[in-house]
Amino acid sequence: MNIVILLGAPGSGKGTIASRLAAENDNLKHVSSGDLLRGAVAKGTAAGVEAKGYMESGNLVPDALIAQMIKDVVAETTGDVTMLLDGFPRNLAQAKILEEMGAPIRSAVLVDVPDAIIQDRIAGRRTCPSCKAGYHVTGLPPKVPGVCDRCGTALTIRKDDNPETVKDRLVVYHRETEPLIAFYTEKGLLRRIDGNQGPEKNAAAFKAAM
Ligand code: AMP
Repeated sequence: MNIVILLGAPGSGKGTIASRLAAENDNLKHVSSGDLLRGAVAKGTAAGVEAKGYMESGNLVPDALIAQMIKDVVAETTGDVTMLLDGFPRNLAQAKILEEMGAPIRSAVLVDVPDAIIQDRIAGRRTCPSCKAGYHVTGLPPKVPGVCDRCGTALTIRKDDNPETVKDRLVVYHRETEPLIAFYTEKGLLRRIDGNQGPEKNAAAFKAAM
C-alpha cells in the first residue's frame, strides 16, 4: 500500500478526480476525510457528535479526532493498493502524524484552482450521499437532473456548501493547509496540476502526475 495525497482548496475538484479514478481502477482506493466525518455525523457516533459543530462552521475538527479515523483506514488497507487520500492532511501537524503512520507517501498532487472560481464551483455542487459521486449543475450535470448516474440515489447539497461557510473554509485553507505545499515541495513529493480543465482532463492530468 502507498499513498497519494490530494492537495487543493475546498471545491477544487479533488473528490471528483479521486472518485473517478478509483471507479476505473480496483487498485486505487479513494479515502475522503470529509466523507468519513460526514458518515460519523450521520451515524451519531461520539466522534461525529464532536465533529459536527466544527464542520458546520467551516473550521477544522481536532487533529486527533480525524487522525484516528485515517489511522484505522490505513491499518485496514493492505496489498497492491494506492490510497488517494483526499482532505487529509489539512495542516502541518496532521502531515507529521501521517508520516508517523509509516505508510509510504508516493506523491502529493496539488489541484490548482483560483479562489474566484471556487465560489461558483461550490454553489453548483451536488453530491451522491450513497456512492459519493460528485456533480455540478452546469459543469458536470447528471444525466437525469438530481439523480446519481452511478447508483440512482437522489443528489444532495452539503450543509457547509453555502457562500458564507465557503468563505470561511477558504480562509482556513490558506492559513492551515497551504503551508503543506512548501512542506511536500521540500520533500520532493509535490506535483501540481491545473484543476480548471474540466472533469475528464483534470482526472487524466492527475493520473499522469501522481
Ligand atoms: P471536506 O469534505 O474535505 O471539504 O471536509 C468538510 C469538513 O470536514 C471540513 O470543512 C472540516 O470541518 C472537516 N474536515 C475534513 N477533513 C479534515 C481534516 N483533515 N482535519 C480537520 N477537519 C477536517
